[in-house]
Amino acid sequence: MTAPRIQYNKPPNDQPLEEQCVSKGMRMTDQRRVIARVLEQSLDHPDVEELHRRANAVDNRISISTVYRTVKLFEDAGIIERHDFRDGRSRYETVNEDHHDHLIDLRSGRVVEFRSEDIERLQVIVARELGFRLVDHRLELYGVPLDDKDKAG
Ligand SMILES: [Zn+2]
Repeated sequence: MTAPRIQYNKPPNDQPLEEQCVSKGMRMTDQRRVIARVLEQSLDHPDVEELHRRANAVDNRISISTVYRTVKLFEDAGIIERHDFRDGRSRYETVNEDHHDHLIDLRSGRVVEFRSEDIERLQVIVARELGFRLVDHRLELYGVPLDDKDKAG
Protein backbone atom coordinates (compact mmCIF):
# COMPACT_ATOMS: atom_id res chain seq x y z
CA MET A 1 0.00 0.00 0.00
CA THR A 2 1.09 3.51 -0.70
CA ALA A 3 1.41 6.00 2.10
CA PRO A 4 -2.12 7.18 2.86
CA ARG A 5 -2.97 10.78 2.31
CA ILE A 6 -4.79 11.29 5.54
CA GLN A 7 -4.41 14.97 6.10
CA TYR A 8 -7.48 16.85 5.15
CA ASN A 9 -8.24 20.52 4.89
CA LYS A 10 -11.82 21.33 4.20
CA PRO A 11 -12.10 23.50 1.11
CA PRO A 12 -14.47 26.45 1.11
CA ASN A 13 -17.93 25.86 -0.34
CA ASP A 14 -18.34 26.75 -4.00
CA GLN A 15 -21.69 28.39 -3.40
CA PRO A 16 -22.63 30.33 -0.26
CA LEU A 17 -25.17 28.49 1.90
CA GLU A 18 -27.59 31.37 1.63
CA GLU A 19 -27.58 31.16 -2.16
CA GLN A 20 -28.12 27.41 -2.02
CA CYS A 21 -31.18 27.99 0.18
CA VAL A 22 -32.60 30.57 -2.19
CA SER A 23 -32.04 28.36 -5.23
CA LYS A 24 -33.96 25.60 -3.41
CA GLY A 25 -36.88 27.98 -3.10
CA MET A 26 -36.43 28.64 0.61
CA ARG A 27 -37.73 31.86 2.06
CA MET A 28 -34.80 33.46 3.82
CA THR A 29 -35.63 35.34 6.99
CA ASP A 30 -32.98 37.36 8.82
CA GLN A 31 -32.73 34.63 11.47
CA ARG A 32 -32.27 31.88 8.88
CA ARG A 33 -29.59 33.97 7.25
CA VAL A 34 -27.71 34.26 10.53
CA ILE A 35 -27.94 30.51 11.15
CA ALA A 36 -26.78 29.79 7.59
CA ARG A 37 -23.78 32.04 8.10
CA VAL A 38 -22.92 30.45 11.45
CA LEU A 39 -23.04 26.98 9.86
CA GLU A 40 -20.86 28.12 7.02
CA GLN A 41 -18.24 29.60 9.31
CA SER A 42 -18.11 26.52 11.55
CA LEU A 43 -15.11 24.38 10.75
CA ASP A 44 -16.03 21.90 13.47
CA HIS A 45 -19.22 19.84 13.83
CA PRO A 46 -21.44 21.83 16.19
CA ASP A 47 -24.66 20.50 17.71
CA VAL A 48 -27.86 22.56 17.94
CA GLU A 49 -26.96 23.99 21.34
CA GLU A 50 -23.60 25.19 20.10
CA LEU A 51 -25.18 26.61 16.93
CA HIS A 52 -27.70 28.39 19.10
CA ARG A 53 -24.90 29.91 21.19
CA ARG A 54 -23.08 31.13 18.09
CA ALA A 55 -26.23 32.45 16.39
CA ASN A 56 -27.24 34.19 19.60
CA ALA A 57 -23.99 36.09 19.70
CA VAL A 58 -25.10 37.68 16.41
CA ASP A 59 -28.82 38.04 17.14
CA ASN A 60 -30.05 37.29 20.65
CA ARG A 61 -33.67 36.97 19.51
CA ILE A 62 -32.92 33.62 17.86
CA SER A 63 -34.46 30.85 19.97
CA ILE A 64 -33.21 27.29 20.21
CA SER A 65 -36.42 26.03 18.59
CA THR A 66 -35.76 28.29 15.59
CA VAL A 67 -32.30 26.74 15.32
CA TYR A 68 -33.83 23.24 15.52
CA ARG A 69 -36.37 24.02 12.81
CA THR A 70 -33.82 25.70 10.59
CA VAL A 71 -31.21 22.93 10.69
CA LYS A 72 -33.99 20.42 9.97
CA LEU A 73 -35.06 22.51 7.00
CA PHE A 74 -31.47 22.76 5.71
CA GLU A 75 -30.89 19.07 6.28
CA ASP A 76 -34.06 18.06 4.43
CA ALA A 77 -32.95 20.27 1.54
CA GLY A 78 -29.60 18.45 1.43
CA ILE A 79 -27.67 21.64 2.18
CA ILE A 80 -26.16 20.41 5.43
CA GLU A 81 -25.31 16.97 6.75
CA ARG A 82 -26.25 15.52 10.13
CA HIS A 83 -23.88 13.24 12.00
CA ASP A 84 -24.52 11.04 14.97
CA PHE A 85 -21.17 10.38 16.61
CA ARG A 86 -22.65 8.16 19.34
CA ASP A 87 -22.65 10.81 22.05
CA GLY A 88 -26.39 11.34 21.83
CA ARG A 89 -26.20 14.67 20.05
CA SER A 90 -26.75 15.38 16.38
CA ARG A 91 -24.02 17.47 14.88
CA TYR A 92 -24.01 19.38 11.65
CA GLU A 93 -21.70 20.44 8.89
CA THR A 94 -22.11 21.93 5.45
CA VAL A 95 -22.14 19.53 2.53
CA ASN A 96 -19.10 19.69 0.34
CA GLU A 97 -18.32 18.19 -3.03
CA ASP A 98 -15.07 17.08 -1.50
CA HIS A 99 -15.53 13.89 0.49
CA HIS A 100 -14.00 13.19 3.88
CA ASP A 101 -14.43 10.78 6.78
CA HIS A 102 -14.34 11.25 10.54
CA LEU A 103 -12.39 9.93 13.49
CA ILE A 104 -13.94 10.54 16.89
CA ASP A 105 -11.79 10.78 20.01
CA LEU A 106 -13.82 8.88 22.60
CA ARG A 107 -12.08 10.66 25.47
CA SER A 108 -12.59 14.26 24.46
CA GLY A 109 -15.31 13.97 21.82
CA ARG A 110 -13.04 15.80 19.38
CA VAL A 111 -13.81 15.03 15.73
CA VAL A 112 -10.88 14.70 13.33
CA GLU A 113 -11.50 14.88 9.60
CA PHE A 114 -9.45 12.72 7.27
CA ARG A 115 -9.33 11.20 3.86
CA SER A 116 -7.44 8.05 2.93
CA GLU A 117 -7.12 7.12 -0.72
CA ASP A 118 -6.47 3.50 0.28
CA ILE A 119 -9.77 3.32 2.16
CA GLU A 120 -11.61 5.03 -0.69
CA ARG A 121 -10.23 2.46 -3.15
CA LEU A 122 -10.93 -0.52 -0.89
CA GLN A 123 -14.56 0.43 -0.45
CA VAL A 124 -15.08 0.50 -4.22
CA ILE A 125 -13.49 -2.95 -4.45
CA VAL A 126 -15.60 -4.39 -1.62
CA ALA A 127 -18.82 -3.03 -3.11
CA ARG A 128 -17.90 -4.40 -6.54
CA GLU A 129 -17.15 -7.83 -5.11
CA LEU A 130 -20.61 -7.77 -3.55
CA GLY A 131 -22.09 -6.86 -6.90
CA PHE A 132 -22.56 -3.14 -6.38
CA ARG A 133 -21.38 0.12 -7.83
CA LEU A 134 -20.55 2.29 -4.85
CA VAL A 135 -22.37 5.62 -4.90
CA ASP A 136 -21.81 6.86 -1.37
CA HIS A 137 -20.43 5.85 1.98
CA ARG A 138 -20.01 7.06 5.51
CA LEU A 139 -17.11 5.99 7.68
CA GLU A 140 -16.58 6.78 11.34
CA LEU A 141 -13.57 5.64 13.31
CA TYR A 142 -13.70 5.69 17.10
CA GLY A 143 -10.48 5.78 19.06
CA VAL A 144 -8.52 6.97 22.04
CA PRO A 145 -5.23 8.88 21.73
CA LEU A 146 -2.11 6.71 21.66
CA ASP A 147 -0.14 6.91 24.88
CA ASP A 148 3.64 6.66 24.94
CA LYS A 149 3.48 2.92 25.59
CA ASP A 150 1.35 2.36 22.46
CA LYS A 151 3.75 4.43 20.41
CA ALA A 152 6.78 2.44 21.59
CA GLY A 153 5.05 -0.86 20.83
ZN1 LIG B 1 -16.68 16.65 8.69
